[in-house]
Amino acid sequence: MPHELIFYVLVIIFAGSLSLFLSLYAHLNLKNAPGAKQYIAVTILSTIFTYSYVFELCSKSLEQIKFWLKIEYLAMPFIPVFILLMCLEYIGIRLKNWIYYILFIPPIVTIFMHDTNDLHHLYYKSFSLNSEIPFPIVKLEYGPFFYVHSIFLFLCLMISMIMLFVRLRKAAVFRFKIQIFMMIAGLIMPIAANHFYLNGLSPYGIDLGPVSMSISFLFHGSALLTFQMFNVAPIARDTVFESMKDGVIVLSQNNRVVDYNHAMKDVLPILNKHMIGKPIDDILCDHHYLFELIQKGQSCDCELLINSQNIHYNIRFAPVLNKNGITVGQILTFTNITERIYLLKKLKRLASIDGLTQIFNKSFFMNRYEEVYNELKAMGENIAVVMFDIDHFKNVNDTFGHEVGDIVLSSVAKLAKDHLRSSDLIGRYGGEEFVICLPNTNILEAYKMADHIREKIAEWKTNINDEEIQVTSSFGVTSTQFLIGDEIKTMQSLIREADQALYVAKNGGRDRVEMFEQVHEYSH
Ligand code: GH3
Ligand code: MG
Ligand code: MG
Repeated sequence: MPHELIFYVLVIIFAGSLSLFLSLYAHLNLKNAPGAKQYIAVTILSTIFTYSYVFELCSKSLEQIKFWLKIEYLAMPFIPVFILLMCLEYIGIRLKNWIYYILFIPPIVTIFMHDTNDLHHLYYKSFSLNSEIPFPIVKLEYGPFFYVHSIFLFLCLMISMIMLFVRLRKAAVFRFKIQIFMMIAGLIMPIAANHFYLNGLSPYGIDLGPVSMSISFLFHGSALLTFQMFNVAPIARDTVFESMKDGVIVLSQNNRVVDYNHAMKDVLPILNKHMIGKPIDDILCDHHYLFELIQKGQSCDCELLINSQNIHYNIRFAPVLNKNGITVGQILTFTNITERIYLLKKLKRLASIDGLTQIFNKSFFMNRYEEVYNELKAMGENIAVVMFDIDHFKNVNDTFGHEVGDIVLSSVAKLAKDHLRSSDLIGRYGGEEFVICLPNTNILEAYKMADHIREKIAEWKTNINDEEIQVTSSFGVTSTQFLIGDEIKTMQSLIREADQALYVAKNGGRDRVEMFEQVHEYSH
């Protein structure tokens, strides 16, 4: 073999080996970097192409050259496609599936046209050995389809280059700028080599494209490797995002779903990967309540029925701003607050209910009574207040013990409560003294209700340790008809009047109901 050729063959073998090494290295070390898969593909294709080219250069006959060219053409036409895909993924652009498939059509057409050239001569017009040099190098005259292939190759590289430049301008971090710049440098090499080759400037017409390609892969490889090394933050962010207990959904400015995390599927089980990019209006067409909350865009608590369970969520909205401070989307966070809500309800209940009698305690009763009093006063309605007290309760305790006394107390409270309307309020005012607020009730109606309860208490009896226990109770009743703005009977004075009437009932012999009479109040 002539020594000029040996030199080039060795250089190209070195280039092929470099590509092979890079593909193996990438396979072992570049797992998470964007574009790594395409990089591995492109370096493998380049290895096949370059080694086949070595065999082509060492071929003795035109037939052998044709054979190796066909092998080269199995790999080479796909290289620009994978370079483009690698660059796009590197800068975070995802192609739709159909564009992805379309990109593979030109290489397949190229292979077909190349391999069937003897039939149509549309790829190479002529195909002969170059007789001017001492070793058999093929001399080619290109047909129209060769140029189609060349234009496609050029376009892939140019689009890659333009996209990288656009991303380079936007890159805020200097380190990332350097990485993109390395990707661009990697693209310039094969474009320059191709230019030399196509313009007949390469030595003896030897295509040095494979060499330039291998060198360019060094640049790409380092860009990918450094990306991987410094790409901890996005990976960490993804891990946090996915492992969050709160459901998070990211919406674009035009309310399309950009991303969501695993926990968001608990909030909206219908979510799936295919919904990314779809308008939230379409996804929530059967969830009007949630849709309206999202439309309002204000942090709030809500109750959702999910898998036939009522779940409470706190929804928070946070804008996504670009680096110029312009809103480009929003992040919605759903925190499950069901447990907190139940706990709060329980606490409220504990704070409002008397533990023994299970009716309102005094302070909660007074708060609710004040609300009802003010409402009725504003509307000019009636209100009645009843106080009642168990007669000789001390005797019950003394005779049967405190525990039995407790049973009697809770039974009396339950009896009274059961005979009230849902709008009435009853509270434990003191030890065995109770207070009732009757909205929209005049004195006679209140009297009737109180007397009915008195009767029921008197009829009630229980057997404890073979002993029958029965109690009676005394009632004091008062009421007022509000005239608008009438302040004569304050809420405290109503209670005082009921208490005074109760006092009269006790003095009058117990087990009775007494009405407070105004004459009575003025005379005292
Ligand atoms: P009167 O007919 O005048 O109301 O007589 P009385 O014995 O009911 O009145 P008094 O106020 O003298 O006694 C009330 C008793 O109620 C005294 C107290 O020990 C008892 N008592 C108060 N709270 C409780 C309680 O929670 N459980 C029990 N078992 N007894 C209570
Ligand atoms: Mg009593
Ligand atoms: Mg008492």
